[in-house]
Amino acid sequence: MKIINTIAEMKEIVKEAKKLGQRIGLVPTMGFLHQGHLNLMERARENCELLVTTIFVNPLQFGAGEDYDDYPRDLTRDAELARGVGVDIIFAPSVKEMYPQGYYTFVNTDTITEVMCGASRPGHFKGVTTVVNKLFNITQPDEAYFGQKDAQQVIVIEKMVTDLNMPINIVRVPIVREEDGLAMSSRNVYLSSEEREQAVILYQSLCKARELIAGGLTMKDKLYHAIKENIEEASLAKIDYIEIRDAQSLMPQEEKLTGKVLIALAVRFGKTRLIDNIIVEVVNDV
Ligand code: AMP
Repeated sequence: MKIINTIAEMKEIVKEAKKLGQRIGLVPTMGFLHQGHLNLMERARENCELLVTTIFVNPLQFGAGEDYDDYPRDLTRDAELARGVGVDIIFAPSVKEMYPQGYYTFVNTDTITEVMCGASRPGHFKGVTTVVNKLFNITQPDEAYFGQKDAQQVIVIEKMVTDLNMPINIVRVPIVREEDGLAMSSRNVYLSSEEREQAVILYQSLCKARELIAGGLTMKDKLYHAIKENIEEASLAKIDYIEIRDAQSLMPQEEKLTGKVLIALAVRFGKTRLIDNIIVEVVNDV
């Protein structure tokens, strides 16, 4: 496994791989790897000849006052974990390498980035689509792997790839959870022990919502309030959003839920903002 820091070197490796007709798989991350990231890499490993993972804490996708400076970083540990799952190349450029002085070009997906995390974190998705676009251009993957954990992000990336006719297959990988159900996240290290205990409420309330739907509840408002009450049982939880939307289009569901429903949560515990989601199929009586 090689660690590459410059775009020029990365492009050289890609050129050689293309010459050999190798399939390139890309797993973009911000590092501080956990099993959620490693699952993406394991999936990619099965389908590609050259497996590239990128480790880049992208300043563009952090707003003022967010955790860019505090975001956990540990390249040595990441390299060991990545090697363990058979990654060929870690591409870990500096901020200056990615955005040199006089950088002026941005990629923006409209409409679906104005809701949910896009509403809570203005500019976030413009940072994501810009960096992912650059990473796609640098590594020219046949396939790129994204986690369902960031449900809106993967939809935005799929839309960008479709709208801009990029010849890249986007593969979605299911959420990996801790034993008690908390979705794995690099940000979980910020949680105090009490916050960590209570953070399981996100998954618990999603499971409860799934049970309610399975039991016949199809009214959006009732479901919303059931989830809200459930989360509020955790004294340290501050709800950022509870969203009930169409799982494909991200458009709001009608009052009577139908088809594949995305239930997505963003909840703060102290300074830590956690997200989680599930997709539930609502089967309506005919
Ligand atoms: P991040 O480093 O947080 O930007 O995440 C990099 C990639 O890993 C994204 O595609 C995430 O959706 C994915 N990811 C992060 N946590 C998980 C998880 N618990 N399960 C599945 N995928 C995840």
